[in-house]
Amino acid sequence: MKAVQVSSPGGDFELVQKEIPKPKANEVLIKIEACGVCHGDAIVKEGRFPGLQYPRVPGHEVVGIIAQLGSESKHWKVGQRVGVGWLGGHCFECAACRSGEFGACEEALTTGITTDGGYAEYMVARMEALSRIPDGIDPVYAAPLLCAGRTTFGALESSGAKGGDLVAIHGLGGLGHLGLQFAVKLGFETAVLSRGSEKEILARKLGAHHFIDTSTTDAAKELMKLGGAKVILGTAPNSKAVSELVNGLSRNGELILVAYAGEMMQLSPVALMRGGRTIRGWVGGRPEDAIRFSILTGVRPMVEVFPLEHATEAYNKMMSGKVHFRAVLKIA
Ligand SMILES: [Zn+2]
Ligand SMILES: [Zn+2]
Repeated sequence: MKAVQVSSPGGDFELVQKEIPKPKANEVLIKIEACGVCHGDAIVKEGRFPGLQYPRVPGHEVVGIIAQLGSESKHWKVGQRVGVGWLGGHCFECAACRSGEFGACEEALTTGITTDGGYAEYMVARMEALSRIPDGIDPVYAAPLLCAGRTTFGALESSGAKGGDLVAIHGLGGLGHLGLQFAVKLGFETAVLSRGSEKEILARKLGAHHFIDTSTTDAAKELMKLGGAKVILGTAPNSKAVSELVNGLSRNGELILVAYAGEMMQLSPVALMRGGRTIRGWVGGRPEDAIRFSILTGVRPMVEVFPLEHATEAYNKMMSGKVHFRAVLKIA
């Protein structure tokens, strides 16, 4: 099979021929149709994780068809369409697993990071890591929902916001354009905080009720004019801007962060104490929920499609923020 791998931290993507892997008893073999290209892939490409093993095939937004079953399979069938996201498997035995929080498993496998992922024609995946992908969505659109989609949907769905509440989406890129669509379809009064007229046109097209230009206005003040946001979803990697947004939260409002940012946040405890506001991070969310909801409501990621052979171009475009808005490798 063809695969794209990284042989060392900071190394190039290499297109190679490999043996098709054989599924162990608790795995399936997947013939890959599409794989999203995500910021998380930089962990392998740039070597940002201690103890990573190389060569490694990246990719944790994988959609494909089950081609072969491991001997322990009870539930899955050959020919079924499945997805594999960030979580590549869990141990079922550690304290987190025993309390049902598989996402926090101490021995978790991470697809495309600790195991080979979806920049390839085939991959093996643990059975507990599979999501069912129903008909009704093209694999190219389903792929980004396995990571970017489930994260933004899960953050909003698990928040304290109810239908009609004011919810703000900070940033309108790969995560934000999905968060916006989910917020509108979940019935929230939705404000987008971003900059420039191009983003405003896109925000309005995707259903935003308000657009607050962060380059010309004080976003927190503008949110307070609207009554204060019950939830602000932080999808922009800008710690300074995010810190200032706390003042735009309503009573008991929460700022939920889903984007990685290297800089420190800085804010006054008073900003949190006044109104009992909360800041929290979020990495979870169930892919099947996000995909089912997207099929029901017509939410779709905006994607740029590349062949597997152009993985380098797709990755560079994604990393430089030039992709609108998720890059996806179409493999079969
Ligand atoms: Zn990801
Ligand atoms: Zn565990």
